[in-house]
Amino acid sequence: MQKLCSLVSDFILPPLCHNCKRLVQAHNTLCFHCWQKLEFVGYDPYLPETIFSVAYFSGLAREMVHKLKFEDDVKLALCMAKLMALRVPKHPDSVLIPVPMHINKLRERGYNQAGLLASMIGKLNKMPCEIGVLSKKRDTKNQSSLNYNERKKNILGAFAIDKMYAATIINSHVIIVDDVCTTKATINECSKILIKAGAKSVSAVVFAVTRP
Ligand SMILES: [Zn+2]
Repeated sequence: MQKLCSLVSDFILPPLCHNCKRLVQAHNTLCFHCWQKLEFVGYDPYLPETIFSVAYFSGLAREMVHKLKFEDDVKLALCMAKLMALRVPKHPDSVLIPVPMHINKLRERGYNQAGLLASMIGKLNKMPCEIGVLSKKRDTKNQSSLNYNERKKNILGAFAIDKMYAATIINSHVIIVDDVCTTKATINECSKILIKAGAKSVSAVVFAVTRP
């Protein structure tokens, strides 16, 4: 019955590539042509071993991150999460934790793209996702216009662990989720406080990473 419903809905609303609207086999995916426009990250000795990324932050990957973040294209999150889910390291006792957003920015944007990605990856990989563990207590400047040292300073002490959820990360392998990693300043700052709060190890999964 479920299969029949899906056939009927695919007939009425056929699955289209999220980027170019060509017909594809499944909803929330990219077509072969757009897939080829992504510069997928393979083995890269210059990237930290603890950061897992789908693609380099250029071309279509950059456009996708931009659309998710600034053009309210939240449907794109599932398309990105499907690719990110494949990059998540398999480890028992893992927990996904999104990079949090300050309440002011959350009110302005209406959603945290890292939170959307993390909860979708959690559902796809059937693994726990804890949205409330990390919070951003200081509304920092937009990182994109800053260099590495400025970003590090900008983000220093900006995050906190919510005591109510702290127990969920003790002895866990935490996987930080974010849409993009440019200078690693945010991921490093989050890792620092997660380890201090009792996480056994911390790695990160992002959709796009700046080429080292
Ligand atoms: Zn396409």
